Amino acid sequence: MRSVALSPEARTRALADLASGELDVLVVGGGVVGAGSALDAATRGLRVGLVEARDFAAGTSSRSSKLIHGGLRYLEMLDFRLVAEALQERGLLIQTLAPHLVRPVPFVYPLKHRGWERLYAGAGVALYDTLGLLSGRSRGVPHHRHLTRRGARRVVPSLRKDALVGALEYYDAQVDDARHTMMVARTAAAYGAHVATRARVVGLMKESGRVVGAEVQDLETGERIEVRAKQVINATGVWTDDTQSLADTRGQFHVRASKGIHLVIPRDRLQSKTGMILRTEKSVLFVIPWGRHWIVGYKF
Ligand SMILES: Cc1cc2nc3c(=O)[nH]c(=O)nc-3n(C[C@H](O)[C@H](O)[C@H](O)COP(=O)(O)OP(=O)(O)OC[C@H]3O[C@@H](n4cnc5c(N)ncnc54)[C@H](O)[C@@H]3O)c2cc1C
Repeated sequence: MRSVALSPEARTRALADLASGELDVLVVGGGVVGAGSALDAATRGLRVGLVEARDFAAGTSSRSSKLIHGGLRYLEMLDFRLVAEALQERGLLIQTLAPHLVRPVPFVYPLKHRGWERLYAGAGVALYDTLGLLSGRSRGVPHHRHLTRRGARRVVPSLRKDALVGALEYYDAQVDDARHTMMVARTAAAYGAHVATRARVVGLMKESGRVVGAEVQDLETGERIEVRAKQVINATGVWTDDTQSLADTRGQFHVRASKGIHLVIPRDRLQSKTGMILRTEKSVLFVIPWGRHWIVGYKF
C-alpha cells in the first residue's frame, strides 16, 4: 500500500493507465458498493479500474441516514444471521477500520404500553446486544439500559409526559457516509486501483456476446477512451438498469428503488441528549443527531 492523493494529476494518470492494457476488473460507479468492490479486488492483487460519472458518493451513498446498524427491526423478521453479521461489521468499523468516521450513538425507544412492551422490546435489544458479541470481539458500543418515564424525559426533555410510559436506551453507530466512501476509494487507489471521477461509462464493448470493456467519457475534456477488462462490475445503484441497457441485454438483477425522506431540522428545535427511534404504522422513524442538526428519517 502506498500513500496517494486523489488529485487532478492522479486522475489524469489513472485515465491514461485505464486506456493502456487489459484490466482484470473494471468497476463502474463510485458509490460505497463500487468503491468497496474496487478495494476488495485491488487487495487480492488484481489490476483494477474504478470510474465514477460525477464524484465519489455523489449518488445514494451521500444521502443515507448515516447509520451503521445491525438493523434492530430485522430482528422482528427473525433474520438473526443478517443482524449478527451487520453487528460484527459495525464493531470492526468502530474499533479498527474507520474509528475516525464511525462513532457510537445512543438511541431512545419510548415505550407506550405498560408491561408486555418492555418485556418484548427489552428482549429485542438484549438479543441485539448479545448478537453483537457473537464474533468474539468487543461490540464497540455500551450495553442498553432501561429507563423510567422520568429518566427518559431527563434524556429527551422534548418528549411529552403523556407520550410514553418508559423507554429503552440502546446504541448503534453513525458514519459520515460520503467521507467513508471517499476513503474506501482512496484506499483502493493506495492498493493500486486506477481511480477516476468525472468519468462516465457511455457504452459497453462486447465480443461474442460477452462484455469485454467499456467506453468511458472524460467529462472534463469530452474525450472518450476504451477500457478493456476481463470483468466489468456494474455498481451504479439506482442507475443499474440504465448501465445494463448499454449492453443491449436484460440484466439478471433488477434494482427497485427504495424511497426515503429526510427532514433536516436545527438542533435547538428538539431538546434531547440522544437520538430516537419511534415506531410508525408501517416502519420506523429515526431522529438522528447530525452536527448542528437533527436528521428525521423515514424509510418506506
Ligand atoms: C433513504 C435511504 C436511507 C438509507 N440509510 C442507510 C443507512 O442509514 N445505513 C446504511 O448502511 N444504508 C442506508 N441506505 C442504503 C445505502 O445508502 C445504499 O445501499 C448505498 O448507498 C448504495 O450504494 P451504491 O454504491 O450501490 O449506489 P450509489 O451510491 O448511488 O452509487 C452509484 C454511483 O454510480 C454512478 N454512476 C451511475 N451511472 C454511471 C455511469 N454510466 N458511469 C459511471 N458512474 C455511474 C453514480 O454517479 C453514483 O455515484 C439508505 C438508503 C436510502 C435510500
